[in-house]
Amino acid sequence: MIAVGLTGGIGSGKSTVADLFAARGVPLVDTDVIAHRITAPHGIAMAAIAAQFGPEFVAADGSMDRARMRALVFGDEAARKRLEAITHPLIRAETERETREANGPYVIVVVPLLVESGSWKTRVDRVLAVDCSVETQIARVMRRNGFTREQVLAIIARQATREARLAAADDVIVNDGATLETLAQDVQTLHERYLALSRA
Ligand code: ADP
Repeated sequence: MIAVGLTGGIGSGKSTVADLFAARGVPLVDTDVIAHRITAPHGIAMAAIAAQFGPEFVAADGSMDRARMRALVFGDEAARKRLEAITHPLIRAETERETREANGPYVIVVVPLLVESGSWKTRVDRVLAVDCSVETQIARVMRRNGFTREQVLAIIARQATREARLAAADDVIVNDGATLETLAQDVQTLHERYLALSRA
């Protein structure tokens, strides 16, 4: 079983590409979903979060009080590090468990910050980057999230550059001016390559 790490900047089309692999029966492991689940009601990160940050960071339903935590870590790098020291190892462990338990010749592991957060590249067998221009990212995220241009630019500024992502990638899907049909063809080509690699 090989693990393919799928990454890309905000609005590049990661989720769209992941869905096209899923439609071909490929199991997906999504680190964003896992990150959310561990801080959901009675998630496995909640005891440590309550102990580190205090019960006021736990909402009535047992989930993390996201608004409160966001406000804390926004301007407090040390607090962000403390939170990540709890969540990152749990996300890694859960990702490994789900990858191990997945059924299929290969698995797609969606890691939005694969290039930014050090060790992910060594935890997957291949890296697939979804690439598009910054202008395309801005247009898509303004439309999808109702953000302003400045808000999207601020998010992009905190992510890896296009060049860094392409340098880390073994495979690239260009999703600029692509229709869903051409995107599906690109996914199909890669799907066949990954099936062949998993048999090799
Ligand atoms: P990401 O997961 O990387 O943030 P998404 O897959 O959610 O990106 O794509 C961002 C937005 O752009 C979504 O609303 C999606 O439907 C749209 N989108 C992505 N790729 C295309 C495309 N090739 N053609 C039209 N719309 C697209």
